[in-house]
Amino acid sequence: MLKENYENLRLEQLKIKGKGAKVLLHSCCAPCSSACLERLVDFASVTVFYYNPNIDNQSEFELRLNEQKNYLNSVYGDKVKLFIPHYDAKEFYEAIRGHEDAKEGGSRCELCFKLRLEKTAQYAAENNFDFFATTLTVSPLKNAQLINRIGKEMGEKCNVQWLYSDFKKQNGYLRSIALSKENGLYRQDYCGCSFSQKEAAKRRKVDQ
Ligand code: SF4
Repeated sequence: MLKENYENLRLEQLKIKGKGAKVLLHSCCAPCSSACLERLVDFASVTVFYYNPNIDNQSEFELRLNEQKNYLNSVYGDKVKLFIPHYDAKEFYEAIRGHEDAKEGGSRCELCFKLRLEKTAQYAAENNFDFFATTLTVSPLKNAQLINRIGKEMGEKCNVQWLYSDFKKQNGYLRSIALSKENGLYRQDYCGCSFSQKEAAKRRKVDQ
C-alpha cells in the first residue's frame, strides 16, 4: 500500500484554510518544536500546547518546560503563544495501565499518543482553533502513520480538524538538531516516561 505523504497533506490543508489559520501545536519539548514551528509560523497563528503527563517527574517536566518557554521567547517573542495544562503524572499511568512492560514504540506509546492528542483536540475544539497538530512526528523513532491515524480519530471525536504532518521529512529531524545546537537547548536522551528512562540507562551501559 502506498504511504500517504503527510507533509503534502499538511500544506494542502493550510492552503485551503488560508493564511492565519489558528493551529494548536502539541509540543513534547523545545528541541522537537523548533523545526516544526519553522514550518508553521509563516502560514498560521500558532499556540504551543505543552501537555506531557508522561514525563517521569516534576523536575524533568519543569526543565523541559523552561527550555520550551525560553526558546519561544527568544525566537518568536509574542508571535507564538504557550499554554501549559496542569501536570499530573497519574493521568499517564492510568492511561497506560496494563501496558507498562510494552517495548518502546508498542502499545504503551500508542496509548500515550492517544492521551496527549485527545487532550490537545479537546482544548482546540473548546477554544475555536482551526487545527491541532503535534511535534511528535519530527522524531525518526516515532511512527508517523500511527500518530496521524490517532490524531485523525481524536479530531473526529472532538470535532476539530487534525493537521497532518511528518515533520521529520525533508531533513526536519536534522534541522531540529541544528536549531537545538544553535540555541543551546537541552536535549534529553530518553523519550519522557520512567520506562523509557530505564531503557535509555540500559543503552548507555551497553555503549560504555
Ligand atoms: S516511550 Fe515516550 S511515547 Fe512511549 S510511553 Fe514513554 S513517553 Fe510515551
